[in-house]
Amino acid sequence: MDAAFNFDLHCHSTASDGVLAPDELVRRAAANGVSVLALTDHDELAGLTAAAAVAGACGVRFVAGVEISITWGGITIHIVGLGVDPENAALASSLEQVRASRSRRAEKIAAELDTLGIEGSLEGAYAFAENPHLIGRAHFARFLVARGMAADVASVFRHYLVRGKPGYVPQQWAELGDAVAWIRASGGRPIVAHPGRYKLSRAELRRFLAEFKTAGGEGIEVVTGSHSPEQYVEYARLAREFEFLASRGSDFHGPDESLVDLGRLPSLPSDLKPVWHDW
Ligand code: AMP
Ligand code: MN
Ligand code: MN
Ligand code: MN
Repeated sequence: MDAAFNFDLHCHSTASDGVLAPDELVRRAAANGVSVLALTDHDELAGLTAAAAVAGACGVRFVAGVEISITWGGITIHIVGLGVDPENAALASSLEQVRASRSRRAEKIAAELDTLGIEGSLEGAYAFAENPHLIGRAHFARFLVARGMAADVASVFRHYLVRGKPGYVPQQWAELGDAVAWIRASGGRPIVAHPGRYKLSRAELRRFLAEFKTAGGEGIEVVTGSHSPEQYVEYARLAREFEFLASRGSDFHGPDESLVDLGRLPSLPSDLKPVWHDW
């Protein structure tokens, strides 16, 4: 497929922390001119079947994806899997374990917020979670906004739920090698999500990328809603240097929470090998 196609290979539905149901998300993507869409919910495959069905009816080519939370060097990193098999039992059961650890973390977050006098946050967060098996900080953030603790979700993440702020709970996510292996064994391509977002020095990031590649990682997101135009250039350079495939995705979560809408990103630099080169 060539550059005339509009690829958006990273977004979220209500199966994780997006605000649109899978069918609504696909319809919005189609309306925005997306021709190839990957749904990449956090640690969850539950939205894929519904999204694929609607995509077919809207003339959007659908790619089954996932965004797996891992811990590396003490920080959280996200690995996107593109083209996974939603029926793969090993992937499904591994992600089920990750989701269970999210549920345990949610109880701890709520206990932390209780100590601050913010009561009812566990029920409150779950009320914002369409999928009771996938709870995340975004659901707590929406609850805190509804409680009047912050003006919007972005401001919650400046004052709560992050390291050094109230309601933060450290979490041990999956291992890098495991996440890469789960994705590959289910037929998918492992891609580092929004590499510009991690609090890593240049040297640490390079060490991470080298380990990712050795583990079987194949690409990085270059053009994403989380990168500035300067970062497109910086991560394009790293894609060339490490001979990574390049990906493009909005990381859309919802009309009121995301700066970049589905399908509304610039193209990848034309000399990069896109993750879709052989699709
Ligand atoms: P979790 O995986 O549950 O720890 O939550 C991570 C999610 O929180 C991200 O995928 C975003 O949806 C949301 N998030 C994290 N930081 C921010 C931020 N600064 N602004 C808005 N949403 C954020
Ligand atoms: Mn999210
Ligand atoms: Mn992410
Ligand atoms: Mn994401």
